[in-house]
Amino acid sequence: SRILVTGANGFLGAHIVKEALDNGYIVRGTVRSAAKADELKKVFPSEKFETVIVPDLIAGDYTEALKDVTALIHSASPFAVEVNDPKKDFLDPAIDGTLNVLRAAHAAGIKRIIVTSTVGTVLSQPELMSVDYTYGSDDWLPLTYEQAASGTLPGFVVYLASKKYAELAAWDFAKEHPEIDLTVINPTVIYGPVIHPISSLKSLNASNTIIYSLINGSKAIPPDTVPVFCDVVSTAQIHVKALESKATYGKRVIFTKGPGTVYQMLQIIAKARPELADRLSPIPEADPLAGKPFSKFDTSIAVDVLGVKGLDLEETVLQTVDSLLELEKKL
Ligand code: NDP
Repeated sequence: SRILVTGANGFLGAHIVKEALDNGYIVRGTVRSAAKADELKKVFPSEKFETVIVPDLIAGDYTEALKDVTALIHSASPFAVEVNDPKKDFLDPAIDGTLNVLRAAHAAGIKRIIVTSTVGTVLSQPELMSVDYTYGSDDWLPLTYEQAASGTLPGFVVYLASKKYAELAAWDFAKEHPEIDLTVINPTVIYGPVIHPISSLKSLNASNTIIYSLINGSKAIPPDTVPVFCDVVSTAQIHVKALESKATYGKRVIFTKGPGTVYQMLQIIAKARPELADRLSPIPEADPLAGKPFSKFDTSIAVDVLGVKGLDLEETVLQTVDSLLELEKKL
């Protein structure tokens, strides 16, 4: 059967496309321009891969995109750490963009819908990770829409709020239209190999940029804001396996493999890739998070129901580093 994947040319989106093609689906992906469609067709030359151009998440017309489609994976959403205009940059495309594609899918008679959210929407505790607490599907980020729209918060926080209100909009829509079987995926920070088209490492996706900043010679030590990770291939597998899993209907699927602090990542790279020593960021004397409680997450649906265990931190970091080094050579 044919599925529609929005944001097909993004870091995660491209892995979802690959996973779905590998599992026998015909995949149609939305991108914003003809040039992006051409680039993506080079990544997926299969005749089972189609592209459709939807230039605008909020006002875009999905009639053509949804023709002969049986399920939707909505993954497109702005993800960056810089914000100029909270509404225009994050909140509107996330929330109204989700509602726009969900309305179109409903009008087209599509019942199965998967929406990519983030673990950030379950971070209900003010201490975020440093708390002896297990986050689960009843937890919600306490931030209000008004706070997010106020223009006083850092970009990353506004991004998390945009995902919270987009996710809530999707759940409300599914409640109003009970014939829709909605599943939401809530992954932690995703790292892994880049297979989507990028023209420069300056336009690398936001999460992999954290790892790149450790090896690009900038000697940066990014803050451990949300130091829990998962790998991109497993995250894509969760999206695709969920398509056929009734047990995930109406569920939030939280996914993480556990802590991934900057300190741990630097240790891994220093040990396994000694040739990068000159360009590696300095390893702090101790992990700033050592000795503090580290929150846990209820990943039972992803792990037990869908059977996706995820790669460990070492494998995830090294696959990412090697992919970024390859890209450096190519670009
Ligand atoms: P990318 O930035 O690599 O991909 C984002 C995708 O969404 C791209 O296809 C992009 O299109 C599209 N998009 C972004 N903004 C708009 C817009 N205003 N209008 C139309 N399309 C837009 O990010 P990721 O792959 O990392 O993120 C994919 C999804 O996963 C998002 O929903 C994100 O919130 C979620 N997520 C990501 C995590 C991570 O650590 N990476 C963690 C948890 C959740 P274009 O290329 O044209 O800009």
